[in-house]
Amino acid sequence: MVIGGGGTGAAIIHDLRLRGVEATLVERGELTSGTTGRHHGQLHSGARYAVKDRSIARECMQETYILKRIAKESIEDNYGLFVALDDEDLAHVPVFVQACVESGIPIKEVPVAEACEMEPNLNPQIKRVVMVPDGTLDAWRLPLQFFATARRNGAAIHTFTPVTGFRYGGSAVTGVQAYDLKTRSERTIGADLVINATGAWAGQVTRMAEVEIPITPGPGTMVAVRKRLTNMVISHLHPADDGDILVPQRGLSIIGTTQYRTDDPDDIAVPEEDIANMYACADTLVPSFSAQKYHAAWIAARPLVGAASSADDARNLSRDFSVVDHGKSDGREGLLSVIGGKATVLRAMAEQTVDLVCAKLGIDEPCRTANTELLSHRAYFT
Ligand SMILES: Cc1cc2nc3c(=O)[nH]c(=O)nc-3n(C[C@H](O)[C@H](O)[C@H](O)COP(=O)(O)OP(=O)(O)OC[C@H]3O[C@@H](n4cnc5c(N)ncnc54)[C@H](O)[C@@H]3O)c2cc1C
Repeated sequence: MVIGGGGTGAAIIHDLRLRGVEATLVERGELTSGTTGRHHGQLHSGARYAVKDRSIARECMQETYILKRIAKESIEDNYGLFVALDDEDLAHVPVFVQACVESGIPIKEVPVAEACEMEPNLNPQIKRVVMVPDGTLDAWRLPLQFFATARRNGAAIHTFTPVTGFRYGGSAVTGVQAYDLKTRSERTIGADLVINATGAWAGQVTRMAEVEIPITPGPGTMVAVRKRLTNMVISHLHPADDGDILVPQRGLSIIGTTQYRTDDPDDIAVPEEDIANMYACADTLVPSFSAQKYHAAWIAARPLVGAASSADDARNLSRDFSVVDHGKSDGREGLLSVIGGKATVLRAMAEQTVDLVCAKLGIDEPCRTANTELLSHRAYFT
């Protein structure tokens, strides 16, 4: 049983079915209605993380290659430019370049004039440019490709079915209690193992089983304008900060993001000042950004692993993920949680989770997701 119909739950249920495990997924709303349907849409080559954490960067690069192979229709292979804007950024360039090389990310320095020819809307004052294999991923289509393939392979998927509690045999979890919002009825669904893949809500869900996990919901704002101003993803070449990534997504340009912390991922709203701040940040990369027609501003909560008491603390939390066996850590057999990570590494998160599921259930089946091309997202509806 998988709780949570975001990208992580999608990749897990697909992996479970490929290994022959019977699987049911419950999602409290529509599929991807959590953080997954609201993220920035960047396929991370890992360059953004390389200076701080080579192993996360390496994993992003590897997963980027895999997603380009198995989920072609959800990925734009459009690359990215990291641009240095001032002397402080220039001092950071060698550190950045070395970190990317050590992480196995193929990068290339591009002369400023050439970069401005490739991307005519780029700020002509930029001082140095490094090209990286970033890309754009479609936040909705990618998970739907996983859901479509899982369903074709026999997975049961129930939307609008929030989990409200657990079923127990002694102290072990043996299923969930859920409320079916379509039929307005309570349901009890039994399971050999329950996987909590509820992202920023993971702490709320484990609390129903009287288990605490170290997770901090970390909201961030994005603003979109109605023009595709660049074809590549444009990032500010400096240590991560507000509004330093501009992602082209179909006919839109999206600038993001910010970093807050919250206790309740359902109680978040875009702070008014974020919009002006995002426009100003975007203009330093692409000066015509604020002249475009406003499309939307929205906010979503990252599922960050660790405890943070402030927004700054939250920014410093790792972007890594972790699979927790609550039988081992809390004496609550039958319950696993997968926390943290990012959309780019959803397949790897699923592989690690399902490896643990198979070990616990005594199933000897290898992971096949890296070499299994996914169905079209359209197949989910047919
Ligand atoms: C501002 C921002 C920008 C980001 N940009 C990027 C990016 O550019 N590239 C990238 O790779 N990653 C990005 N990320 C990270 C990425 O969005 C997340 O890591 C990923 O979407 C998390 O997916 P998930 O499936 O784990 O969680 P979610 O998508 O949140 O899924 C969890 C699901 O659980 C459901 N749920 C909760 N409680 C219950 C319950 N009681 N019963 C049933 N269901 C329940 C929720 O409704 C939700 O649908 C960004 C994140 C943020 C916040």
